[in-house]
Amino acid sequence: MYQRRNFMAALAAQSFLLATPAVARAKTVLELERQRTGEKFRCEFGRRGLKDKDLTSLNWILRDVSAGAVKSMDIELYEVLARIQAQFSGAPLMIKSGYRTQKTNSSIRGAARRSKHVEGRAVDFTIKGVKTYDLVKVAQANGAGGVGYYPRRGFIHVDTGQERYWRR
Ligand SMILES: [Zn+2]
Repeated sequence: MYQRRNFMAALAAQSFLLATPAVARAKTVLELERQRTGEKFRCEFGRRGLKDKDLTSLNWILRDVSAGAVKSMDIELYEVLARIQAQFSGAPLMIKSGYRTQKTNSSIRGAARRSKHVEGRAVDFTIKGVKTYDLVKVAQANGAGGVGYYPRRGFIHVDTGQERYWRR
C-alpha cells in the first residue's frame, strides 16, 4: 500500500509537469531584418502555420527593393528559415536579397539566369555574429534545397529547389 501510494504520488507529479506551460513546445518564431532599408518584422507560427497578415508583411520585407515589386514567396521557404533561426536562439536573419524581378536579377553580375530568387523561392542572408560556414551546415541540416556559400561576401543563399551546393 505504501509503495502504491508513492507510485500514485509520482504519477501525479508527472502529470503536473506535463501540464506546466514551461514544458510546452517552444513557439516557432521568424524574424527578418532587411539590411538595405532597416525594416524588421517578427511573427510566430500558429498551429496552422503563418497568418495571412504575417505572410503579407514577410513578403514585403523580402520584396525586390530596387524594382519596388512584391511577390508571394514560397511558404516552405519561411518554414526553412524559421528552423534555421531556431538553431541560433532566434537571432534575426539579416536579409540581403529576397525576391528579384527578372530585370533586377539580370543586372546582378554572376546571378543565375533561372534564379530561384525570380520564382520567389530563395533568399540571401546572414546572422550577426555567426560564421557563414556554420549557417551553411545548419541550412543543409534543416531542409534547405539549394545552399550557396559566399564566404568573401559573408552570406549564404537558401532556396526550396532541389538539393544543391555551391561556393563562390
Ligand atoms: Zn541567392
